[in-house]
Amino acid sequence: MSSSFVYTQRERKLVFGVGTRHDLVQYLNELESQKVFVISDPNGASVVTDIVAPCAARIVHIWTDVRQHVPEDLAASAREEVTRVGADTLLTFGGGSSTGLAKAIALSHELPIIAIPTTYAGSEQTTIYGVTGNRHKQTGSSPKVLPRVSIYDAELTLELPKNVTGASAFNALAHCVNGLSAKGANPVTSAIALEGVRAIVESLPSVMAHPRDVSARERLQYGAALAGITLGDTSTGLHHKICHVLGGAFNLTHADTHSVILPHSTAFNADALPREMAQLSEALGCSRGDEAGALWDLAKRSGVPTSLKQLGLESSNLKEAAERAVNEISSNPRSVTAELLEALLQSAFAGGRP
Ligand code: NAD
Repeated sequence: MSSSFVYTQRERKLVFGVGTRHDLVQYLNELESQKVFVISDPNGASVVTDIVAPCAARIVHIWTDVRQHVPEDLAASAREEVTRVGADTLLTFGGGSSTGLAKAIALSHELPIIAIPTTYAGSEQTTIYGVTGNRHKQTGSSPKVLPRVSIYDAELTLELPKNVTGASAFNALAHCVNGLSAKGANPVTSAIALEGVRAIVESLPSVMAHPRDVSARERLQYGAALAGITLGDTSTGLHHKICHVLGGAFNLTHADTHSVILPHSTAFNADALPREMAQLSEALGCSRGDEAGALWDLAKRSGVPTSLKQLGLESSNLKEAAERAVNEISSNPRSVTAELLEALLQSAFAGGRP
């Protein structure tokens, strides 16, 4: 990261606060939205129906077929329906899977998205989209898919199960850690990433101990939003490439892979990133040199998965996973080979403290 840099601010609005879901009509008016296509995962269908009740006349469809990693056939049928009903806006309710489906539609139909995220995946703050076919998740980036408005109402997250909470919070934390050294990092993106780390580390243990603590949920949601901005303003690196391969090719739950991989991907690059690790240790509140271990401790304290074995991967898959991942990684602070990645994955498979 040099002292000469460009930071591009994107056109988007982030709305924080308990009860802000009731201001939805205001944001629909701002976008002049008259035909709204709602995308919600099935678990959120009744809640989102209540949320859109005051603007029911503008709702043209509530789509509840949402699946992890946006399968190609799902994206195709949702696009067809959007065309059929003549929607002018997409409203998403749920986690990264709902947002992901909306992004796949926005890419082809150029419709604005309003997101009401209910997990900590952070997809609503990125221009990254992904669609899965043939066991491979094809990702890309386009400003067309960045939600114009994101409404963060922590009350909607109080029922988020502990396993999803911990796992998607680790997904967010991974965006922050990765963002410190990813291509595109600069002092502004790093300040955002480190604030994200602080917010997540401070709030996650409280949320896991007291899931209905709305203040802790608000702080965690704030950290997750910053994490999403970090990911969107920088780029994905080795960590996310490995997780995408594990999710896309071996059908593991994407969010679960982050808590397992993050300590080991951090350890892998630590020696090549002395300045970033010094910043990270401060944000994590750990001794210099123990950043990867501190991330593993947080995972253990939060009760999230810490080994690939736990997630159901077979040791016989590690070589293929490393070979697939090495083809996806274009740049990394330390040189990467399939053998080195296999060793990283073996550590993650065993799940010990790095
Ligand atoms: P998810 O959207 O699949 O949701 C996980 C589970 O949580 C679902 O069963 C859902 O019904 C449930 N859920 C969500 N909100 C709830 C709530 N408030 N209360 C109760 N249950 C609730 O999981 P995720 O971790 O948010 O997203 C994962 C997906 O997002 C992956 O496909 C990943 O690749 C993608 N992602 C994309 C980006 C990007 O920038 N494009 C960033 C992060 C993640």
